[in-house]
Formats: sequence, structure tokens, C-alpha cells
Amino acid sequence: MLEKIHKAIDELYPEMVETRRYLHQHPELSFQETETAKFIADYYEKLGIPYQANVGGNGVIATLKGGKPGKTIALRADFDALPIQEENEVPYKSMVDGVMHACGHDGHTATLLALAKAVLSFKQELTGTIVFLHQHAEEYAPGGAKPMIEAGALDGVDAVFGTHLWATTPLGVLQTSKSTFMAGTDRFELTIQGKGGHGGYPHETNDAIVISAQVISQLQQIISRRLDPLKTGVVTVGVFESGNAFNIIADKAKLVGTVRYLDTAIQEQIIAEMEKIIKGVCVANNATYTLNYEKGYPPLVNHADEAELVLEASEQILEITKREEVLPVMGGEDFAYYMLERPGAYFFTGAQKDGNSYPHHHPKFDIDEKSLPIAAKTLISAYFNYQAQN
Ligand code: MN
Repeated sequence: MLEKIHKAIDELYPEMVETRRYLHQHPELSFQETETAKFIADYYEKLGIPYQANVGGNGVIATLKGGKPGKTIALRADFDALPIQEENEVPYKSMVDGVMHACGHDGHTATLLALAKAVLSFKQELTGTIVFLHQHAEEYAPGGAKPMIEAGALDGVDAVFGTHLWATTPLGVLQTSKSTFMAGTDRFELTIQGKGGHGGYPHETNDAIVISAQVISQLQQIISRRLDPLKTGVVTVGVFESGNAFNIIADKAKLVGTVRYLDTAIQEQIIAEMEKIIKGVCVANNATYTLNYEKGYPPLVNHADEAELVLEASEQILEITKREEVLPVMGGEDFAYYMLERPGAYFFTGAQKDGNSYPHHHPKFDIDEKSLPIAAKTLISAYFNYQAQN
């Protein structure tokens, strides 16, 4: 039956592409994806698969109960876009100014919808239940996964699988990990308050820019001089705003950045070191500060058995020519929350487009659409393998 479903997926390829391109042209930002949610709900309505809309926000969940008893497995696809102006000149270019599907979530959605349609004809012979979990707001913490779980998205679910179309991995390559796969991602906002004044009279002021420069340099020493070299983390200051004239000493400065980590002990160490440095530099310079540190998505830790299932599943797909266990990447994903609640695995489906090597979140990001059926086949194969082994 799996072979027949794979064949049905191939036959749906033109529709998959059409769906993906439609969504690509109509992107919506995180927490504002109401039209996309409606598009998804309408699709299940037409298929006659029962679904629930507005799950924990804009989330949509459809449930296909097979004719034979078995486990319940959720397959997850996210559907939000990013605040980026698309620079690709393609017929399916985003029609919304400043908003773009620059992470492939349009492809994730098209993949899962087509998969639902492909499996539907085999409903009576199907073992177990498939939960099609369409998640809003992956790109913007606190994200959609958490509120969907709180709204009961995983009730009765035994395992969760998901994939990301990965534009920097060649088509035909599948990547996963049997443990930590993606990083925890935090955000901080620091305001340093000095004392402004005349650019010619620095001794009468307390220069917020000079103080900030010390803070920024010392923050870089957390990774290089404080962390065990065999453990890892990232401290990035992405925004530094201060000053407004050449002859005025800045009164205050704003720094915004991100911290990335793979285990929470490192996260706690980085936070403690940051606080020490910021406090120390400010005390030494008679400045004051406020630090707002927001903990974001935790690290995404795959479950070994389910990751193994995915690797085995990939053997059944002709188009997958290489499968590999990889080191964690420092990007984040709120799929992490599902992995804290249920066994499961997340994997990358290679989606690199010929001649386009732009990374995720780039204005020229694009994917090879041939990756969509590969992703669908891997997900359903993992489903079948899970049913067979549990
Ligand atoms: Mn993404």
C-alpha cells in the first residue's frame, strides 16, 4: 500500500506545486496567518477529512482515522512567512509588499495537504490515525507550537514527525540527528544609560557609546574565554543604536541580540556571564542599564528510535540518494516543544535549487519543488514504519 501512496503523491506533484506557488504569492506574517489557515481548512473541508480550526491561535488540525486500529501519529507543517521583501523575479513572486515565504513553509504546507489527499483513497486499509498538524507562527517566539499543545493538539498522539525543506542541502539528501538537532534561541534587549553632553567636553559626560563598545567586546569573550571549548554557544549583538549628531556625546544606547545554545547548562552559564559583564562595565563607568532577557525556543532534541525510523524510511524512497546524521545547527525551531512532549523526529529534506544557493531568510531564497514529493513520501514512510514497529 505504501508504494501505491507514493505513486499517488507523484501524481499529485502538479497540484503540490500549484498549492505551493499560490501560498508563496500570498504570504502572511506570524500570528496573522488567517487567510492561510482558511485555505488549509477549506482544503480539508473539500476532502471531507474532519478538522479543527483556531487551535491555539491560527492552527489547523485534521484527523484521518484509518480502517485498522493502530497508533496515532502527528505530521507537522508550519505555514507562516517572514517580514522580507522578495527579490526573486519568478512568476510566483510574493504579491505582498515586505512579506515573503523565505523559509519554505509554503512548501511544507503544500506537502502535507497533498499527502492527506494521497492517503485518503487508502483510508480503509490504513493502520492507525494520521493527525495533520498545521502550525502557525513558527518564525516568531513564543511561536505557535506551544499554544497548540496547550490547546490539546497532542492529545491521544503517540509520536510526532516533521520535516524542513532545506535550501542549502542538495536535492536527494536527507539529514537528521539522533539527539540534539537544532539550537535553543533566546533574545535580549539591553539599554545602557550614560550621561549625554557636548562632544568637546567628554569629562563632563558619561559616553553611552564608549561604554557599549566595551560591553560588546567583552560579550564576545564569553564564548572564547568562558565556555569549555568543546561545548558551544553563540552571542550575537544584531542591533546597536545610539547617538544622533557628530558633536554630541550619546546619552544612551540600545543593543539587541540573540543567544544560541545546545544545552540548558550552557544557556544558564551564558546568561550569568552576560549579567556579570554588563553590570561590571556599567558600575565601572557610572552607568545604569536594563536587561530584558527573553528565553525563546528550547533546543530541538530528536528521539533516537524515531530518528532511526526516519533514516530507515528514507531507504524506501528512490529519490533519496544520501542520508546522513549531522551535527546540530544553530538555527532554532519550535518543533522542539513537540519533542519535549512526545517521541518523534525532525529531519531536513534537501531542497537546493540549481543555481540558487541563497540561505533561509534571504530575499532571494527559493527551493527546488521536486523536494515536496520527497518530503511527503518520507513522512508517510516514517508513519508506516512506526506502525509496524510499535
Ligand atoms: Mn523555517
